[in-house]
Amino acid sequence: MPGPMFTYDQEMTDLIFDFCRWRLTINPVPLDFGGVAEDLGVGLEGLLNDDGSSPAVVLDYYDKKLATAIVSVDSPRFLSFIPAAPTKASLLFDMVVSASSLQGTSWLEAAGAIIAENQVLSLLAKQAGLDSHAGGCFVSGGSLGNLSALTTARDHGRRQHPELQGRRLRFAVSEEAHSSVAKALHVIDVDALVVPTIDHRLTLAELEAALAADPEPETVVGVVATGGTTNAGIIDDLEDLGIYCRAKGLWFHVDCAYGGGAMFSSTHSHLLSGLRYVDSFIVDPHKWLYAPFDCAALLYRDPRIAKATFTQNAAYLDIIHSDSKEEWNPTDYAMHLTRRARGLAIWFSLCVYGIKAYIDAVDDSINIANRAAAMIEDCEHLELVRDPSLSIVLFRRKGWSDQQYSAWSTQLLQDQIGFVTPTKWEGETIARFAFLHPETTEAMVAEILATMA
Ligand SMILES: *Cc1c(COP(=O)(O)O)cnc(C)c1O
Repeated sequence: MPGPMFTYDQEMTDLIFDFCRWRLTINPVPLDFGGVAEDLGVGLEGLLNDDGSSPAVVLDYYDKKLATAIVSVDSPRFLSFIPAAPTKASLLFDMVVSASSLQGTSWLEAAGAIIAENQVLSLLAKQAGLDSHAGGCFVSGGSLGNLSALTTARDHGRRQHPELQGRRLRFAVSEEAHSSVAKALHVIDVDALVVPTIDHRLTLAELEAALAADPEPETVVGVVATGGTTNAGIIDDLEDLGIYCRAKGLWFHVDCAYGGGAMFSSTHSHLLSGLRYVDSFIVDPHKWLYAPFDCAALLYRDPRIAKATFTQNAAYLDIIHSDSKEEWNPTDYAMHLTRRARGLAIWFSLCVYGIKAYIDAVDDSINIANRAAAMIEDCEHLELVRDPSLSIVLFRRKGWSDQQYSAWSTQLLQDQIGFVTPTKWEGETIARFAFLHPETTEAMVAEILATMA
């Protein structure tokens, strides 16, 4: 006899579905407060006990105590870090993936999930300008995507350069590369040739200068560029870097975790045209492609190279590898084995709304960034630090100290007007807006700016 754990419970099901229905309805989503509540955690202990607690009691505790201590990344007033704005269809289908326990590990078990995920990966590859041989898989986030791509690049570098045996390999990276790139290099024990940039944007001239000044340029086997820095939305000179890397046989990896959404922009996609030269790139649909967490796409120009790195050989796994042509095992392309079919939520959403709706949403984010910049220019006490790039705006409140920015940011959240954390730019503390929620309005931006007078 199965116990209650595996028995359908009408009441609990209604409770959860009603909660989800309510959460999907609230508009605008309130910011909530993050970890500021003094009584956070009070009462948690009693809930987890030997005999179980009533679902209504546990859910009520979550709703009242825990959820309010989580800042809602999907609030249109969340303009810090990189916000999130998952589409309604993607959120709903994520529930289907959960309720159906959908995994997407191997073709043998999950061809139906994988073929749909691959339809999305093909679309992303096509937007990037890669041909139909490109492929990869969805991973949990950009960090795991970068790690997996760079592991493949390192192995490939080793194979291509037997003469470097016994020496340390390196990748050239811009000083603006995301922290996850340094972390990945640390994990795979590869060094960085850090290329200084004049205007935070890696150019070919800067790469060539760094290589020319380096005593061991032959140990550099790849270049990591960024398609939209997280702090400022700046896109490296992908076109020239890409052409150079192809000519020199250097692995070209582009981190588009945030900026990859701009592949769908009707006005800015050309800035990513150099993606057609990549050996690998990543984009996080859980950022600017409106998918729920955790969803990052990892793509390779020639996925066979990644397969050489990641195919796991174990007696019990032999059966998932066959010679069939359409067979595609996501597990062969990244640092994972069992995986949630996390690409299905964006697949469903793309099918339901169509690609044009995504283009409009991405365009809206860039437009509101530009309008916010214009509003900032109109304020006596504010000034732009630089022109907005993609959907990110850097600006300063003239005369403010670090403490004033941080006190202002805390108060803004306290008053539920906005979540805007200060950032650093060239050593200075400044304010930063990152837009991507289609329901962030000019009125909300004006309300935030008014608090800086
Ligand atoms: C967010 C981000 C990452 C890390 O992605 P996660 O999904 O948070 O792991 C890497 N690179 C850039 C440019 C990013 O914006």
